[in-house]
Amino acid sequence: MALLDVKDLKTYFRTDDGIVKAVDGVSFSVEKGQTLGIVGESGSGKSVTCLTIMGLNPKKNTISSGEARFKDEDLLHMSPRRLRQIRGNDIAMIFQDPMTSLNPVHKIGDQLAEAVLLHQDVTKKQAKTQALELLKAVGIPRAERRLGDYPHQFSGGMRQRVMIAMALVNDPDVLIADEPTTALDVTTQAQILTLMNNLQKDFDSAIIIITHDLGVVAETADDVVVMYAAEVVEQGSVDSIFRRPHMPYTWGLLGSLPRLDTDLERLVQIKGQPPSLLNPPQGCRFHPRCPYVMDICKKEDPPLKPVTDDPAHLAACHLDEETKDREAQKLIEGTLAAAS
Ligand code: SF4
Repeated sequence: MALLDVKDLKTYFRTDDGIVKAVDGVSFSVEKGQTLGIVGESGSGKSVTCLTIMGLNPKKNTISSGEARFKDEDLLHMSPRRLRQIRGNDIAMIFQDPMTSLNPVHKIGDQLAEAVLLHQDVTKKQAKTQALELLKAVGIPRAERRLGDYPHQFSGGMRQRVMIAMALVNDPDVLIADEPTTALDVTTQAQILTLMNNLQKDFDSAIIIITHDLGVVAETADDVVVMYAAEVVEQGSVDSIFRRPHMPYTWGLLGSLPRLDTDLERLVQIKGQPPSLLNPPQGCRFHPRCPYVMDICKKEDPPLKPVTDDPAHLAACHLDEETKDREAQKLIEGTLAAAS
């Protein structure tokens, strides 16, 4: 059974210019021990999706609907008090920039111990011991000494490890990580992803990774949701989507991954900009940027439907199966990329 089951989630913001449809009918689920990647460009709605689940959008001028069931309780329709309990204990979130979450004038050890004390009925001494254990668990060398350091004395990668430790204080069932490695160099990025993979095994939690980078998804996730302009355009297992991607936006994301078999780092760029969510294009929202656009794409929004050989793999695109197969194959073989 799914630990977190999100159905037809919508988040609209009222602004002076009109209604911004930031999330428009998103559904997915995640199970214990599973990692789900939510991928898309900036502004695709992936972060707002998770902020809605966590109840962290501003109350004023936000309209949310749908369901987000966590262990059979709907996070969208519960009291703020119950939601705060769940947020502190069962679902934790880590953000891209640890400096915005860490207090610069307090020592790392004190901040971790404070987080333990906030959620657990323990003495100060026990909280300090737990803080030390957590620092060790996330691989901080000489953890005992580093408890007395301030955040600015840690590198970016170390600070992100501290944020992960902070999120693990209550052994959460679900860990949501919003672009956890974007601000880090490639080597540190790989170390943090390995750490998250290892911790998931140790803590047996479900992880949702929000990222713009399908490479991060390939490294960490079991399943993936591809979002474009507030909607899900493709979802399924990482294996199925990397083996047979089913729509042009996913092809663009895959094509822009660095390749080992060529000197050119990024071969395919998705041209143009994502649309305004105040007034998204009619029909398929990707149509103004899609190299395969047809008349029907400008009129009808393609439904998300199962692909032929895998009912758990869904995609939204009007292209016929033969064309999808051919183009996906070309992409995988690298010829689509080389030709553009
Ligand atoms: Fe492109 Fe049409 Fe498919 Fe949209 S529905 S991705 S515009 S081919």
